[in-house]
Amino acid sequence: MHEASVALSLIGVAETVALENGGGRVLALTVRIGQWSAVVPTALMAAFPACAEGTLLEGARLNIELVPGVGLCPQHGRVELELKRGLRCPLCDAPTPTLLQGDELELDGLELDGLELQ
Ligand SMILES: [Zn+2]
Repeated sequence: MHEASVALSLIGVAETVALENGGGRVLALTVRIGQWSAVVPTALMAAFPACAEGTLLEGARLNIELVPGVGLCPQHGRVELELKRGLRCPLCDAPTPTLLQGDELELDGLELDGLELQ
């Protein structure tokens, strides 16, 4: 399952950061997920607890921050894209092939035992 491998790689990154900061337990992590990334947040939420078992993240809270898709329209500049319309400006339907944001999958913050990292 795709989301399980995503969860495992996020856990790997978070563990590395935790180890660099004393190796304490991770209480919570915040992940930014673009609406246009291939990751389904609910599936990630579901996969996370089992993947975190036996790691520094066991029992950690997973917060997901959804990032909307933003494209660049030649006429309207930055526009928020609608998934159902594809890479087109919602105002004038011009193609907006460049995704300025919305495909991210990144660790945004970690809450370690006694320490908060952004
Ligand atoms: Zn437009």
